[in-house]
Amino acid sequence: MTPTHHDLLIRGGTVIDGTRAPRFDADVAVRDGRISAIGRLGGHGADTVIEAHGRIVAPGFIDSHTHDDQALLSQATLPFKVSQGVTTVVAGNCGISAAPLRPGMELPMPLSLLDSPDEGRFTTFRAYLDALRARPASVNVAAMVGHSTLRAVTMASLDREATPDEIAAMQALVEEAMQAGAIGLSTGTFYPPAVKATTEEIIAVGQPLRARQALYVTHMRDEADRVMEALDETFRIGRELGVPVVVSHHKVQNTQNFGRSQVTLPHIREAMKTQRICLDCYPYTAGSTMIRTDRGMLGGRVLIAASQPHPECAGRDLADIAREWGVEPDEAARRLQPGSAIYFLMDEGDVQRILAFDDTMIGSDGIPVGESPHPRLWGTFPRVLGHYSRDVGLFPLETAVWKMTGLTARNFGLHQRGTLAPGHHADIVVFDAATVRDAATYETPTRPAEGIDAVIVNGAVTWRQGAHTGARNGQVITRTESSR
Ligand SMILES: [Zn+2]
Repeated sequence: MTPTHHDLLIRGGTVIDGTRAPRFDADVAVRDGRISAIGRLGGHGADTVIEAHGRIVAPGFIDSHTHDDQALLSQATLPFKVSQGVTTVVAGNCGISAAPLRPGMELPMPLSLLDSPDEGRFTTFRAYLDALRARPASVNVAAMVGHSTLRAVTMASLDREATPDEIAAMQALVEEAMQAGAIGLSTGTFYPPAVKATTEEIIAVGQPLRARQALYVTHMRDEADRVMEALDETFRIGRELGVPVVVSHHKVQNTQNFGRSQVTLPHIREAMKTQRICLDCYPYTAGSTMIRTDRGMLGGRVLIAASQPHPECAGRDLADIAREWGVEPDEAARRLQPGSAIYFLMDEGDVQRILAFDDTMIGSDGIPVGESPHPRLWGTFPRVLGHYSRDVGLFPLETAVWKMTGLTARNFGLHQRGTLAPGHHADIVVFDAATVRDAATYETPTRPAEGIDAVIVNGAVTWRQGAHTGARNGQVITRTESSR
């Protein structure tokens, strides 16, 4: 018999359970960090009651694509995530992870962008996960090991293919990460530290994924003119390793490629007939990454997010800075390095088509660095719920929630998360479907979203009425646990 006294009772709300099933009215109860009951719980009591009349009660959102590896330790309350309703982040994307590293080693861009040496360097993946367990963040984390990080820690120079010895060393480090609980391996062959890595190198380094069905996740070599070749390379790696692949932040960029999602998405759909593939996407037409000087990246508006030599330039347009300095934009970009910038290189039609694709998960790709980040860091999830689902009508709210909960948990193997059911971990968000909206813009990028009433992480109320409660109840979700 279900006990009638709970730790927490969310009363009178409308449940969207994360499976894409139609919403239904129910109370949701929590005990010992788990959902203890869902239904009409009229006679039940609880230590804490949240009144949710007129509100949606949904699984806490899972951010499928983050760079929060160090922020989980250095900014452990993660207000930019919790304020959106996010309760779990997938870290270690785009080939970049916080471990394994050597103390004092020099890191190349973009690895250095996400580093915070003050938190200490982790020489093993296990040490990193142990640090997260010892000092929990406000959200759960499932972490991947990054191929560029492995290259940096293994190879004396990164501007070449790895030797057989270096490949063996990287493979051993992937094995260590898998044993510690990493859920997959990510690559970022778009970025200088891994540009020279061959397909064969990645397949060899990724061998430890095979036995565990761990994921291969990639920021592909090319998301512009050669996007089809990049997709085929990704599919091949997945096939040869026999593991599921995730195409990170799928996009087709630069004007001449606008509309090409009409080709990439059917191509992905076709490949899905014979292998497991999914993708993630952020709901904006601008991307954000390290400051680049190549012409392909400088074809549209460029907004500087952070610059180490010129912090005063954060939030300004590259074109204005270049004019002021009397130099060409590529020279201005060179002087602003290292740093990060926002690039307006995508077409709204492509963004909507990719978001609406059935197997697309929502991932912020937020970069938690500097005072002028891309607004996706603070706005991704409410933007999909409010702007794209409610206002644009791109898909029903049930589908929007599924793309940020149940679908993501299934793809990443996050056991008993992402859907609301008795016995599942009590990761829950309460929001107002009528008012939820992103308030972060390119001009005011760190403004918290509106309409998120309450966020509960493993049973702990972590966000309530516009404020962080200070709770840090996040757990480390490991591959071993997730595959159970
Ligand atoms: Zn990326």
